[in-house]
Amino acid sequence: MDANPAVNESVLHAEVLVLGGGPGGYTAAFRAADLGKQVVLIERYSVLGGVCLNVGCIPSKALLHTAQVIHEADEFEQHGVIFGKPTLDIDKIRLWKQSVSAGLNDGLARLVKQRKITLIQGTGRFTSSNTVEVQTETGVTTVSFEQAVIAAGSHPTKIPSFPHDDPRLWDSTDALELTEIPKKLLIVGGGIIGLEMATVYHALGSEISVVELMDQIIPGCDNDLVTPLYRRIKKQYKNIWLNTRVNSIEADNEGLKVTFGRADSQSADGIHTIPGDNGKGAPESELFDAVLVAVGRRPNGKLIGAELAGVNVDELGFIAADKQQRTNVPHIFAIGDIVGNPMLAHKAVHEGKVAAEVAAGHKAGFDALTIPSVAYTDPEIAWMGLTENQAKQQGIDYDKAAFPWAASGRSLSIGRKEGLTKILCDKQTGRILGAGMVGTNAGELIAEAVLALEMGADAEDIGLTIHPHPTLSETFGFAAEMITGSITDLYIKK
Ligand code: NAD
Repeated sequence: MDANPAVNESVLHAEVLVLGGGPGGYTAAFRAADLGKQVVLIERYSVLGGVCLNVGCIPSKALLHTAQVIHEADEFEQHGVIFGKPTLDIDKIRLWKQSVSAGLNDGLARLVKQRKITLIQGTGRFTSSNTVEVQTETGVTTVSFEQAVIAAGSHPTKIPSFPHDDPRLWDSTDALELTEIPKKLLIVGGGIIGLEMATVYHALGSEISVVELMDQIIPGCDNDLVTPLYRRIKKQYKNIWLNTRVNSIEADNEGLKVTFGRADSQSADGIHTIPGDNGKGAPESELFDAVLVAVGRRPNGKLIGAELAGVNVDELGFIAADKQQRTNVPHIFAIGDIVGNPMLAHKAVHEGKVAAEVAAGHKAGFDALTIPSVAYTDPEIAWMGLTENQAKQQGIDYDKAAFPWAASGRSLSIGRKEGLTKILCDKQTGRILGAGMVGTNAGELIAEAVLALEMGADAEDIGLTIHPHPTLSETFGFAAEMITGSITDLYIKK
């Protein structure tokens, strides 16, 4: 990244200082600059974009697209198109993945220049409630600020008892580096990262085993939406062990030796091992060529000297923020992963805009009704609003419909029929409460449901909205018609 010449000065001043150049941070910086503020943006790495753009969402999507092409080519054999077994040039796949991120890095660097933002490459730490010290390659730069936005993100959770510094034990960043395709890959954690990486490495030829603590993969999502994915990967992967935990991992010349135990979610901490009673079907121990640990992320709140600025940081490293994204120190804002779950780029971006607008004296607040979630697996799963589990727990009276994609012409014409579009509506008013999809492009389709929720649409509004035919988007309209009773694409006995 081209640093602004001003960074060679040892003392700088910012009207708005932004700490962290991920999607939340650069959005806050850009918005504040557009609202007339003089902005200093601090990022420790040589490129902007943070985890999402460099070692997260974007490179994983490039690899997931590669996986999709491999699978589709393979599966189309049964429909008469035979490509043969693909030859994989891993170096070229890696280069392609890197080029996708690099294109976006360049775009961000241009946007920084166009907005005349001062960008400092270095690691920043608060030294008081109005100063940050930045350790750069050439020395220390002090930046005084009137207002600051903390956007310092999160890092992968490590399990302390697992061996450190063994190149065969991966976190998500290591997995995305694509240094090798292990023969036998164990994925610890059946959440979004674990299953997205399983999709990639399965397509590239690894034998995949997944171990998940809870009794369901992607535990936050309704089981009926997860089931089509579970059924498909159960056939593709060697093992999926639920209710199971990893007791130990030992480095061995032949591989990583992993021992398993049954996870009992009844214990006080939510998790403990019943000795000698392994999770469903898991062996006592097994050797793997590589192990990816994807058991969540931890906020970076304890790494930035926030205490010296008087900002409260909780035990886990989270920094609480109000609806204006202000911390307990009113001129210091916090956004993104560091303020809490869900740790999603699209949440951080919206919070970044709110923080910048409030810092610039505008009336703004984070009042989104929902933050959609997407697992870019195959099939994809996406959901928003209330899940059915939450509706039940909260005692909400709801109507539910689930349209099977086996009745969608578009789904059948792409060779897939396992999808489902589900909608929950308020029983009295018909207003949409929540929705979810599992199937090809579910991640794109969920946006319409989010808009419907934000606009207060009811099932009739959605059913009467003309969806183009034949598309997967029709399935959302059909699900709404199942609620109003006007569906003709299915026969539902009265
Ligand atoms: P996650 O919380 O989504 O999943 C972690 C999984 O690991 C859970 O299912 C949990 O039950 C399980 N687990 C926890 N401890 C375990 C243990 N000791 N043994 C076995 N299983 C264990 O976390 P993640 O997948 O690591 O993702 C981290 C964050 O990044 C999340 O906030 C996620 O939303 C975000 N993310 C989002 C996307 C996306 O939007 N597509 C992609 C990647 C990551």
